[in-house]
Amino acid sequence: MECLKCYNDMFIDYVVFNIQRADYNLDIKKLPAFVCSECKETYIEEEEMEKIFETIEELDQKIEKLKLKN
Ligand SMILES: [Zn+2]
Repeated sequence: MECLKCYNDMFIDYVVFNIQRADYNLDIKKLPAFVCSECKETYIEEEEMEKIFETIEELDQKIEKLKLKN
């Protein structure tokens, strides 16, 4: 895969992905992504993004339920 910014080669690596929500922060510490060998631009594939959004949706619902207990 080619970098969208500098057109150098990208390699698969693990990156930290942080998501800040209203009620919680989520740090995915080992997310596979393409990382540019030159400018370190990161590209996360659609498949991984979909899985992340599914996870957030589930967490949102579960955390809503947690809040109801208060
Ligand atoms: Zn690059």
